[in-house]
Amino acid sequence: MIIGVPKEIHPGETRTAFIPASIERLVKKGAEISVESGLGSTIGISDEEYTKVGAKICDRSTILSSSDIVLRLRKPPQEEIAQLKKGAIHVSFLDPFNESSLIEEFAKNQISAISMEMIPRSTIAQKMDALSSQANLAGYVTVILAAERINKILPMMMTPSGTIAPAHVFIIGVGVAGLQAIATAKRLGARVEAFDTRPVVEEQVQSLGAKFIKIDLGETGQTKDGYAKALTPEQIKIQQDGMAKVCAKADIVITTAQLFGRKAPVIVTHDMIAQMKPGSVIVDMAVESGGNVEGSKVNEEVDVNGVKILGLGNLPGHVAAPASQMYSSNLTNFIESFWDAEAKTFNLKLEDDIIKGCLITHNGEVVNETIKNLAQKG
Ligand code: NAD
Repeated sequence: MIIGVPKEIHPGETRTAFIPASIERLVKKGAEISVESGLGSTIGISDEEYTKVGAKICDRSTILSSSDIVLRLRKPPQEEIAQLKKGAIHVSFLDPFNESSLIEEFAKNQISAISMEMIPRSTIAQKMDALSSQANLAGYVTVILAAERINKILPMMMTPSGTIAPAHVFIIGVGVAGLQAIATAKRLGARVEAFDTRPVVEEQVQSLGAKFIKIDLGETGQTKDGYAKALTPEQIKIQQDGMAKVCAKADIVITTAQLFGRKAPVIVTHDMIAQMKPGSVIVDMAVESGGNVEGSKVNEEVDVNGVKILGLGNLPGHVAAPASQMYSSNLTNFIESFWDAEAKTFNLKLEDDIIKGCLITHNGEVVNETIKNLAQKG
């Protein structure tokens, strides 16, 4: 069974999908692995390091047309799908809620497309959960970037020249990224407050030494997979009023609020920004999925009366080495979980809950229930 890994070609992508340590693991299990020349160049890994552990260096078109399994990080360019071997398995992030024509193309070309964002958030699948591995690092990066952009320091300092008060950091949205942002800001000595619409996170916030901001929104809750449900317009208004006071005091506001498969909610409005102190910084981690902050722009720093709004995309790409290592490990854990040791092949177990969750197309059809329902609703 040939596993092929083409180089990431999305402009500005610094991460790589597969590192030599993963090749070593799969070669030991009997896989043949081909990688495109330069696969690890963005994080300083040479072709020799890949060949040393048993990979073959091939050109891109050979990898696409001869691999039984193709592994990548980002969704493929649509024109590369027809180049894949009929019946091949393709594993990557796919953005399946928004990429209907890409999905049709996979089905049309008889490719079994696996979407990394659809791996179930279950305990058993945690080691394959690339949304979490990348969000965790993104949360860390938000704090580091904000710390660099404010004109203050995060910790309290008591010096002979005077005492400097700690910075106030307010984190909105406490999923995987938000929790890491809290932990990072705490490590740097900031005073941290946080809010989420899911009341279950209060305890997690407190266990990290931060203060949970309580805003009574009435019924909120979460889906069976632990994702937040969308708020009503009335609830959004109550939330914004409650947040305004906390934002006005904050030196750094970090927003990480997402609604799985839907546009992110707008949480920090122009009015709230107008009440913030000049010199403070907002990091909108949801900028690529619609934005939590009014006026934030993808890959730009916007200045509104002295308040800086950072809307940087691909935050895990700022720490590309651990991000690649973790993503590569997620892919390897996924492959190993379904590897048939005797036959030395990947066993696409259609009845397995993990495969049912993340397999989008198979045998020329869209097979994923969530995506099928979405298509039917139009
Ligand atoms: P996410 O990226 O979908 O959203 C980030 C956070 O934003 C969530 O906590 C969400 O509740 C919050 N949010 C949404 N709307 C908001 C609003 N209007 N105001 C404030 N906050 C808002 O979340 P995620 O990090 O992908 O995590 C989703 C869930 O999956 C969580 O319950 C998490 O604990 C769970 N999870 C479970 C596992 C596992 O068991 N293997 C792994 C990872 C995550």
